[in-house]
Amino acid sequence: MKLSGRVSRITGDGGDGWGLFYKARALKLAGEDIIELTIGEHDIKTDPSILAEMDRSARAGHTGYAAVPGIPELRDEVARRVEARSGVRTTRDNVLITPGGQAGLFATHMAVLEPGDRALFLDPYYATYPGTIRGAGARPVPFETSADNNFLPTYKDIGKHAPGATSLLVNSPNNPTGAIYDETTWAGITKAVQDHDLWLISDEVYDTQVWDGTHISPRSLPDMVYRTMVIGSMSKSHAMTGSRVGWVVGPCEVIYHMINLATHTTYGVAGFVQDAAVFALQKGSVLEDQISAPFRRRREIAKRLIDSQNVVRMISSGGAMYVMLDIRATGLTGEAFGRKLLDEHKIAVMPGESFGQSAAGHIRVALTVEDHAFEAAFACLLEFAGQLGTGE
Ligand code: PLP
Repeated sequence: MKLSGRVSRITGDGGDGWGLFYKARALKLAGEDIIELTIGEHDIKTDPSILAEMDRSARAGHTGYAAVPGIPELRDEVARRVEARSGVRTTRDNVLITPGGQAGLFATHMAVLEPGDRALFLDPYYATYPGTIRGAGARPVPFETSADNNFLPTYKDIGKHAPGATSLLVNSPNNPTGAIYDETTWAGITKAVQDHDLWLISDEVYDTQVWDGTHISPRSLPDMVYRTMVIGSMSKSHAMTGSRVGWVVGPCEVIYHMINLATHTTYGVAGFVQDAAVFALQKGSVLEDQISAPFRRRREIAKRLIDSQNVVRMISSGGAMYVMLDIRATGLTGEAFGRKLLDEHKIAVMPGESFGQSAAGHIRVALTVEDHAFEAAFACLLEFAGQLGTGE
């Protein structure tokens, strides 16, 4: 039987760039002691108080179908949070609760793109972006950014690809680079989407992980509220990756149609998970800061160790649970470096090539193991790079 091209070609003609990650997982399952600095999974679990609320809610009977757009309490809580952080008036009608940010990204592309439309995003990119766009029936159009400009997009970069496009997907704080877009970067992005009449899809799932600078949501910038869709999630901010709860915030009319889409696809998010999300959000920034603090510390460790050598360069970054390293001085590709590091030192990282062509010769290191183990692994990685770099 024939499968649809939309589904069978989600990852395009090549692999999905996760080969090294799967290899590390298989070795770990086989009992090897692998340090995994690969995916964005916290080394802590969901806070027991959040789990207690999930348990209370489920036992109180919130186990049936929950409201498809999200329970009103959670939509209100998300609206309050978004309004407080961005200054933009937001009500529950602007909010759709989704099973995680990923489902929000997919639903948003479904909502704004016709089949075959060109959907822009920048390279390097979070690994699911092209497949999400293909799954929605549209054409993924990555455009390169430069390592010399810390992979920040410029008005010129976007303008080259914008004619005929329908949407632009951006992500700050950024995965994989850790970049926080500053005012100048946002000015270029917003001018480009306005000049070319594009939807702006802003993936803000790392908005609580800001180490330098401030997080700006483009929905708050002049004349942007009508063309901006914001994706949020409890995964990273509250260590709730497995609970699958996130949201999309946008104009009421778009959300109205996206609720219809949710009715015919996900049929909502478990009620007890949503109750736990309300509880977690009401704890405010104290809990969020507690959850993000280890990544801030480990990034400082990485910076200190980077300063003690001169083979590996760290891309200037200000947030998210990753650092991106330029390892081109070793003479290896990111992929080859990653494989050798895994084989020889049992440390797993993500090759830059997993995130597109712009990040070739780079690796992404997740700040996701306990401080001492992280410091030892990072020092080992730098020593290994140093030996390659000097031909030892
Ligand atoms: N967007 C980015 C940039 C991510 O890194 C991730 C997960 O790693 C997601 C979206 C999806 O997150 P979730 O579906 O867990 O909310």
